Amino acid sequence: MNKYLQDLIKLSKFDTAISMFEPKIENEKAKLATFVETAEEIKASINTLYLEVDDIKSKRTKNNIHLSELKSKLEDISKKNDNIHTEKELKALQLEEEIAKEQISFANEEITRLDALSESKEETLKDLQEKLTEEEESIKDIQVAVDNSIEEINKERNVVYQERSELLEKFDNKILTFYEKIKRWAKDSAVVPVKKQACYGCYMKINDKTYAEVIKSEEIVNCPHCGRILYKEDETEEA
Ligand SMILES: [Zn+2]
Repeated sequence: MNKYLQDLIKLSKFDTAISMFEPKIENEKAKLATFVETAEEIKASINTLYLEVDDIKSKRTKNNIHLSELKSKLEDISKKNDNIHTEKELKALQLEEEIAKEQISFANEEITRLDALSESKEETLKDLQEKLTEEEESIKDIQVAVDNSIEEINKERNVVYQERSELLEKFDNKILTFYEKIKRWAKDSAVVPVKKQACYGCYMKINDKTYAEVIKSEEIVNCPHCGRILYKEDETEEA
């Protein structure tokens, strides 16, 4: 095989490998992102619940204050009872007492309701906090795994970069320029194999004459349709 063609195939394979590293790293990071997102959602729910519990507690305090006011009102009423002279006064006082007692029982019901609500919210809060702890444990484990994978990927990438730069040290400048010109539009498919007599860049069938040249591999052959550099893959590689 033409030595330049051999170099071009190697270079193209390195470049393709290099392009694959970034998506691999992104993929690793994405694994973590889902867990972090879930943890953030749980944290938001916990904050909302805290606010709700605070609100319930302040309502309970207001009801308690109201309750003690009503109780002192009842005491006043019972004191007034001793100084009653007319039937009308008595009825008015009885009505006042009735209303105060109703308000007391309403305030007590409200306090019971608020306590039950607060209890159920606190329970949900506890569950969520447990869930958050679990999630944070998972995040720690995944973070370690992801960091390790990224480190491995970076090691592989460094090896490829090293091999690529070694290859470039003895690379023909004209051939390199030629390759980079095609790479500008063909990206990672500047050098492509021919399979079933078709260019694997544009998938067009190539004529017999060009195909014969590709098989001989004595020259650098471009696809007559798209201009990519063609090579015949080894039988073993193709298999
Ligand atoms: Zn082509």
